[in-house]
Amino acid sequence: MFFRKRQVYIPPGSLGFSILRHKDRAMAKASRPYQILAKPIGSICNLSCDYCYYLRKDGLYPGEKSFRMPDDVLEAYILQHIETYPDPVINFSWHGGEPTLLGLDHFRKIVELQRKHKPPEGQIINGMQTNGTLIDEDWCRFLAEEGFAVGISLDGPEGMHDSHRLTRAGNPTHKQAMQGYELLRKHGILCDILCVVHSKNVHHPAEVYRFFKQIKGSYISFLPLVEPQADRDAGVSSRTVPPDAFGAFLCAIFDEWMNRDIGRVKIQMVEEAARTALGQEHALCIFKKTCGDVPVIEHNGDFFPAITSLTRNTISGISVKPGWLI
Ligand code: SF4
Repeated sequence: MFFRKRQVYIPPGSLGFSILRHKDRAMAKASRPYQILAKPIGSICNLSCDYCYYLRKDGLYPGEKSFRMPDDVLEAYILQHIETYPDPVINFSWHGGEPTLLGLDHFRKIVELQRKHKPPEGQIINGMQTNGTLIDEDWCRFLAEEGFAVGISLDGPEGMHDSHRLTRAGNPTHKQAMQGYELLRKHGILCDILCVVHSKNVHHPAEVYRFFKQIKGSYISFLPLVEPQADRDAGVSSRTVPPDAFGAFLCAIFDEWMNRDIGRVKIQMVEEAARTALGQEHALCIFKKTCGDVPVIEHNGDFFPAITSLTRNTISGISVKPGWLI
């Protein structure tokens, strides 16, 4: 847990406290910079990718009428994040579901609240992870003006992307995602690519990597799909990337990157490997010795220690209610 015990703040509802009460007391600084994945619209998404584990997280809140983060929780979160952040450059990460479903006005409110609570010498940097399909000119103007960094989910060329990333009606999404990506690039917005590696694209590393180079991707993260499935002999789903194949995929991309693209393309996995070689600490939480460096705040203010532990039985640190960390 990255907060030292005396620096922990209490999420809404736990021990009968409201998150708003903490506006009245000075917040201690965290011991080091941190990232929180904020879910201002919970797991609500306009797509229905068949491998998405997060869509089902609405089951954590049966009967919930709205998954929009209420204004008072939003302001309390922004205030506490700013107050506890130990550096003058303060990072926010907005995730979903699909955060653009909240609409531009909601994000305008977010930056207004950040300006309201930011210390005079502080600087806010916002990041947003999107599927890209709802990005239009208005979004791009706003994101460019406010200096947002954007991560966009693309699983490679059309056929590989559309093998899993579908609308609720089962329609493909690559075309819309690419339109969003091109618009973001046109507006000069820093745009990272997040590629889920699954059983369909893992055997085509050159095709996947060259596609990303062709669309001028400059920072690429490859995320292996692993879906536990107890009723299969393998213990994982058929979509899951086989470990050997994932290793071969990364090696093939590394070879091509080393021959042609050093200094032009950044690959998160390569950077992580280089960190070890250089004796540096890993930046990516899955490689760290302990989990919990990237906690999650859900739409209602519930606070979880990690994206992988959003269950009602999550108990970490001092747990006063299943699923809530204090
Ligand atoms: S776009 Fe992201 S949140 Fe939406 S269904 Fe696909 S993987 Fe899940």
